Amino acid sequence: MTKNELKQRVYQAIDKRSEEIVNLGEQIRKNPELGFKEVKTARLVEETFSRLGLSAKSGLAMTGVRADVAGRAGTGPTFAVLGELDALVVTGHPVADPQTGAAHACGHNAQVAGLLGAAMGLLDSKAFDHLAGRVVFFAVPAEEYGDIEWRISQARAGKLEFLGGKPELLRLGHFDDVDLSMMIHTTSRTEDGKTGVPASNNGCIVKTIKYVGRASHAGGAPHQGINALYAAQIGLAAINALRETFRDEDTIRVHPIITHGGSQVNVIPGEVRLETYVRGRTVEAILDANKKVDRAFKAGALALGAKVEIETLPGYMPMTCDATMAKMYRENAAALVGADNFRQIGHRTGSTDMGDLSMVMPVLHPYMGGATGSGHGADYMIVDQQLAYLGTAKGLAGMVVDLLADGAGGAKEVLKTNKPPMTREQYLSFQRGLAKREVYEG
Ligand SMILES: [Zn+2]
Ligand SMILES: [Zn+2]
Repeated sequence: MTKNELKQRVYQAIDKRSEEIVNLGEQIRKNPELGFKEVKTARLVEETFSRLGLSAKSGLAMTGVRADVAGRAGTGPTFAVLGELDALVVTGHPVADPQTGAAHACGHNAQVAGLLGAAMGLLDSKAFDHLAGRVVFFAVPAEEYGDIEWRISQARAGKLEFLGGKPELLRLGHFDDVDLSMMIHTTSRTEDGKTGVPASNNGCIVKTIKYVGRASHAGGAPHQGINALYAAQIGLAAINALRETFRDEDTIRVHPIITHGGSQVNVIPGEVRLETYVRGRTVEAILDANKKVDRAFKAGALALGAKVEIETLPGYMPMTCDATMAKMYRENAAALVGADNFRQIGHRTGSTDMGDLSMVMPVLHPYMGGATGSGHGADYMIVDQQLAYLGTAKGLAGMVVDLLADGAGGAKEVLKTNKPPMTREQYLSFQRGLAKREVYEG
């Protein structure tokens, strides 16, 4: 059987399960959960794997679920297809969890539906009789890097080291036997076409900032206080003043939030807390911007005579998509959605922990349409279920065939041409080296 014949069989098997796959995507959309807390979603994934006859390992990096299937046509590389489990808090989103505020405003529900749909199509069509090597179906936690105070508390309790899902899975060795990987992210941007592959994505580091001033009576004795909020405001203004020094080509993004702005209005704020990312296209650019951002935060403390504690946390590495995998995906996309609807996307300024995997193995991170509204916005909606859910399933499954059919010739070609920049040990020690806690007395 040719690769194309095998793909057609797999796609037909996915179409036969279309209702089930769409329902899974919708069920997850209506039950959004925050990163490392995706308990219901992980259970649904595990139950679905089990219905397909797969035995899964669960609880990986808290909530990850992984099921492996070996090809029966020889040995070869191991290819992981991923789906991210988590949602994020977006004010005003109509389908948010009333308790946590979590909402699927980044479309990760479609990733998981696609992952499960790909597994169904490949298993139902008996594709593994024709594949060499191994496929890892992997539902992964916590791509959205938020809820940081809680995650730090988990790290202090020894339950996490890295605060993002894939870095933590890498640390724990759950990717040690994986040679290459991919996922497909939903997009609402019309410029991404029906589907497309980005050249690269920004990386980031993550910071928490605590200004400590002195509380006092806001009416009766403000002169006895040190206003931590004003110190923070000067820090933020200083960051804004630095923006013109960021070079366009470095695509720096610094976007702080205040997570605690004071305790009570008649008290001069004695403590104010902030969080920010510093994103950029290269590690060098991120580290350079990070130095400036630290300086800006210290300026606020200096002006008011406050203290500032700056904690720098490893974030996500910049991502580069593998060119050979991108070419295979493009050819599949032409067959699935028409060549005119495929887009080669340039650099994207968001960050993803697929970047971390791209440091140690070839990866592919295409985007699939079917959503409208603004990513991370309250109006983000999946409007084309066929494309978002079934298109993702077919996109993943098609790549499994391309990489692992014919004795896994495709995967072997990718591994021959792509030499990742770091070993796993180098990656872990680099990320650990970024962690820093600094106290500055202004
Ligand atoms: Zn997102
Ligand atoms: Zn996302």
